[in-house]
Amino acid sequence: MSSTLETLDFTVTPAPDPTPVEERERILANPGWGQHFTDHMITIRYSEGRGWYDAKLEPYGPIALDPATSVLHYAQEIFEGLKAYVQPDGSVVTFRPQSNAARFNRSARRMAMPELPEELFVRALELLVSTDRDWVPRTEGYSLYLRPFMFATTRALGVQRPSQDYLFMVIASPSGLYYPQGVKPVTVWASQDYTRAASGGTGDAKTGGNYAASFAAQADAVRAGCDQVVWLDAAERRWVEEVGSMNLMFVYGSGADTRLLTPALTGTLLPGITRDSLLKLAPDLGVPVEEGRIGIDEWEAGCASGEITEVFGCGTAAIISPVGGVRSARSAWTIGDGEPGPVSMRLRDELIGIQYGTRPDPYGWVH
Ligand code: PMP
Repeated sequence: MSSTLETLDFTVTPAPDPTPVEERERILANPGWGQHFTDHMITIRYSEGRGWYDAKLEPYGPIALDPATSVLHYAQEIFEGLKAYVQPDGSVVTFRPQSNAARFNRSARRMAMPELPEELFVRALELLVSTDRDWVPRTEGYSLYLRPFMFATTRALGVQRPSQDYLFMVIASPSGLYYPQGVKPVTVWASQDYTRAASGGTGDAKTGGNYAASFAAQADAVRAGCDQVVWLDAAERRWVEEVGSMNLMFVYGSGADTRLLTPALTGTLLPGITRDSLLKLAPDLGVPVEEGRIGIDEWEAGCASGEITEVFGCGTAAIISPVGGVRSARSAWTIGDGEPGPVSMRLRDELIGIQYGTRPDPYGWVH
């Protein structure tokens, strides 16, 4: 029987046959993205009336689920994504894990799931990263991607109430450079057929269904010769919300008159931790940021007039991903000269520098 959450201890079972060193080094030399996993994983169970119990670090491997397991039918699932980075002194840090813990619990509330104490969420990450620290790539720009997630495990098809049981897990995957050939701007497709999130829906929760619903639009983007989707608001199909699975930032002007605009968190956007970090970082670098709104037509007009000089997506995976051009059913335009701009690259360097410990972290973001 587990005691209080503060003392909930992890039972540790080391992998009996961990990946051989040569095999691991081969993977770490060229990890790709989300294809390889470390030797261990975290599991913690929850049941109504009992709370969180049975915290484990165990060998990475498949889990058996009854075909009637609730998540397979009603998709009560949430997840997070963050990275661990090697520092110049060889130590390993994560970036703002408490922010991921807080967002995880916001998602949990929206999906009628139990909240996991933030301290336990962070402790689970620490245990997995320290156990599998040899899996954190040492190559510049590489990292260990951490994927905490939770899903409904009650074996029942009733849809009148949420599941009474849940499984929280963390897995880890070494990741390489998002842009192996150097930062390359993406072209984006403004979808008029599909939207990502409606008012009152789940757009500001990190729940699997949002991503399931995005694949058809992403396929349209690829058919249109684009890399990713620009999501417009569901009500008017006018206001720009996000791009792919990133938040968006618009750069206006240049030199001393540069400013940033990012779509406000209206409830239909995911509150990105990279976005939040840039809201603090950019003003400290002399670039004011405004949270507001911008229509797709204003985006086009702003590029035509030269008022909008750069646009980029921001998120944990790519950090900053410049947008080079936009296409829609009606129109197509280029942002600036279509190449990564100086403001995007400066912010990118600063943030990456803090994450990899090559720049000071006055914000206390690295953990
Ligand atoms: N929007 C969506 C829809 C996302 O999935 C993500 C990735 N989590 C983001 C924005 C960026 O969030 P973050 O900066 O926390 O990675």
